[in-house]
Amino acid sequence: MENCIFCQIVQGNASGAVVYQDETVTAFRDINPVAPTHILIVPNKHIVSVNELQVEDEPLAGHMLTVARLLAEREGINETGYRLILNNGPHAGQVIFHLHLHLIGGQPMRYPMG
Ligand code: 5GP
Ligand code: ZN
Repeated sequence: MENCIFCQIVQGNASGAVVYQDETVTAFRDINPVAPTHILIVPNKHIVSVNELQVEDEPLAGHMLTVARLLAEREGINETGYRLILNNGPHAGQVIFHLHLHLIGGQPMRYPMG
């Protein structure tokens, strides 16, 4: 998707502080962090939202979680705790329509955050 900012970051064509990349997912720091650690984990292929996830995407969706676990360890927040957020659609406040898992931590958090 040429006009998708997250596709552009995945392809290295837009500025984004990439912290992890493999064959199926890319992770980069959120441009507007809400906590000391705020990383977005995205599939390399364009998937709009959870609504569009297919059964064949289950390994990819599971991999997004294990990458979140890895990055939480690297960030040193695995023991203090972190929040994983997947906003889906207007009521959840999804503004970027390329599936992304927020990894947020580094400070105590209230729930919900907004
Ligand atoms: P959503 O509300 O869709 O779940 O969250 C989208 C997130 O993407 C927001 O936290 C926003 O700060 C972040 N974001 C929007 N545009 C960019 C960008 O160009 N680069 C990066 N790194 N993050 C972005
Ligand atoms: Zn995209």
